[in-house]
Parts: sequence; C-alpha cells; structure tokens
Amino acid sequence: MFSSIFSRNNAPPAPRTFEIIHPVIPEPKQDIGTFPPNVYLASDAPSKKPAANWLRMICISDTHNTTDINNYPIPDADVLVHAGDLTKMGTTAQIEQVVHWLQSLKHIPLKVVIAGNHDVILHKEFYEKNWNRFHDTKEDHDAAVNKLRSAGHGIVYLNNQSYTVNGAQFLHLKQQWQQKTPSAEPMDVDGTVESMDVDVVAEVDPRQGWRQGYHIWASPWQPEFGNWAFNGVRGKLMEIWKHIPLPTDLLMTHGPPMNHRDIVYEGKDAIHVGCEELLERLQSVRPLYHIFGHIHEGYGISEIKWDRGKSPSTVCINASSCTERYRPTNQPIIVDLPPK
Ligand code: 5GP
Ligand code: MN
Ligand code: MN
Repeated sequence: MFSSIFSRNNAPPAPRTFEIIHPVIPEPKQDIGTFPPNVYLASDAPSKKPAANWLRMICISDTHNTTDINNYPIPDADVLVHAGDLTKMGTTAQIEQVVHWLQSLKHIPLKVVIAGNHDVILHKEFYEKNWNRFHDTKEDHDAAVNKLRSAGHGIVYLNNQSYTVNGAQFLHLKQQWQQKTPSAEPMDVDGTVESMDVDVVAEVDPRQGWRQGYHIWASPWQPEFGNWAFNGVRGKLMEIWKHIPLPTDLLMTHGPPMNHRDIVYEGKDAIHVGCEELLERLQSVRPLYHIFGHIHEGYGISEIKWDRGKSPSTVCINASSCTERYRPTNQPIIVDLPPK
C-alpha cells in the first residue's frame, strides 16, 4: 500500500553500466482459479467471438499509470472495463496520462472506468481535507473529473452510477468499419461513423438478438485501509451498496466482496479483506459478473454458485493488472457475452 514507488522525490540514482542495481525477484506463482466457459486469460482467448452479435469484454484494473500501448497490450474487444486505481497518486497529470492511454486504444469502441482509492483527486470531500498528504499543491477536483467526462473516444466514467451496454448500438458499426478499413482508426461508441455507407454481407447481423442490453452499475468505494479516497467504514458500506439497482448484470467495484479473490498475506497468514456488506448485497443482486481489483494478490476468478447451482452463478473477476509489486504483468481477462 505505501510502496516506495509512490513516495515523492524518490527517483532512483541513474544506473551505471554493467552494475546490477535491482536483483530480479520472481513474483510468487499464484492460483488464479477456474475459468468458466467464455472467460479467458487474454493469451488463451479464441481469436474470434462465438458470433458477430456477441460482445467481447476485456477486464483490467489497478494499472496505476504503469501501462501504455508498448508494455501492456490490449487485444481487440468491444468494451473495456477498468475497475479503478487508474493512477499512482491521483494527480491531474496522472489522470491525463491514463486518459491518453485509454484514448489510444482505438480498437475498443467503449471504455467504462471507475476510480479507486489511489485516484484521490476524484473524491471531492476527501481531497478537500487530505490533499496535502498526497500533493505539493492543491489541484482542481472539477477539472480532473472533467478530463474523464469529456475524454471522448468512448470513455465512460462512472461514480455510483449505471450504464447500459447494448450491442445493437455499435457492434454493426464496428464491424462495418473494420471490414471497410481493417487498419484504419475506428469509431467511438458515441457514433461518429453513423453516416458510413458500406455494404456488408455478414453471417449474423451483430444487432440480432439484442434487446435490453447489459446493465452495469459501478462504484469506487471499498472498506477503509490506511485513509485513502473512497474508503468506507467497515460495517457501514451497505449505505453505498443499497444503491445497486435490480437488475444489474455487470457489477464493477474497486474492491472485492468478502471471501472472493480478496486474500492478503500477513507473514504466513492468509486473511480475507473483502467487503462483508458487498457479499451480502450480492445475494440479492446476483450479477452475472462482478469485476473488481484493489487486492492485487487476488488476481483471478472465483465463481459464486447460488441455490446450490440451480440459479445462474456470479463470476467474480479480480482483474488487477498490477501485481503486489505494482508491475503490470497480470494479463487482461476476457469475457464473451451473448446478445441480451
Ligand atoms: P492499493 O494501494 O493499490 O489500493 O492496494 C494495494 C495493496 O494494498 C493490496 O494488493 C493489498 O496488499 C493491500 N491492501 C489494500 N487494502 C487492504 C486491506 O483492506 N487490508 C489489507 N490487509 N491490505 C490491503
Ligand atoms: Mn491498486
Ligand atoms: Mn486500491
């Protein structure tokens, strides 16, 4: 949490030739759980979706300004979801940096993102009181939020809010665009290619089968740990989770629910640090997928079976892209979703 890479004025000395300064310490090998059908590590995903009317979702989180197009490849998908901790220390410049990176992902028409505890400038009340613990000078909360809200390129910033993804609104436009100009700059989901005039004979019209779409609800809040942004008092977080609407198909929160991909190690002891109230709320909401990050060590999948397997499960995806050493070496997780 308070890793030295985030402290100010800690630039390492310039390395001298042939001198090994940092020994390479292997990351611990971890169990990333059992992947159910249609959920893949990016490297294992089939090159194509099951059909053109499916929606390919790519899940990432906790990128902490460590990712760019050169070191963290984002394969083709229709929607990207980012479960928070966009930045290292929540400065406006760091928000700008992540926005530029997201804007550069021109092959993904829609990018739904939330904040995490590190993105301190995005939490107005917290930043008012605590800015000087993080930043040398006070920056402008509204301007930082505006960088995300006005970013364009299909970037949607949610803060305890809903958003519905309906493939009928953009999958055919993306397909037409790709078939017409495979290497061209693609479209935004907000529809800049609406006037395109191309004839495409597709096996399945990508609009086929879409009705209400997938309902997303997304929140940056997590149980308190070390006095960061969007920290809620343990035991009181139902105040937030009660706002999760029914139905919600895709739930995005920064932190995990209790007992699911939420283990941290204290010495040899493994302890669960997820949110109890969030687990309780999941019982009622039962989203198809719950995407989160925050506990970097928990990267991977956990499936919650309801009614002893008689009802559809909730697949929990801890999509932390960074490891506990803040290296972006965990792959994106891909989910292929049928039209809905
Ligand atoms: P971050 O600082 O990026 O929000 O979280 C990074 C790491 O801090 C996590 O991977 C985990 O090791 C630790 N951490 C975050 N929240 C908690 C918590 O509630 N309890 C404990 N013990 N560790 C946490
Ligand atoms: Mn993080
Ligand atoms: Mn976090």
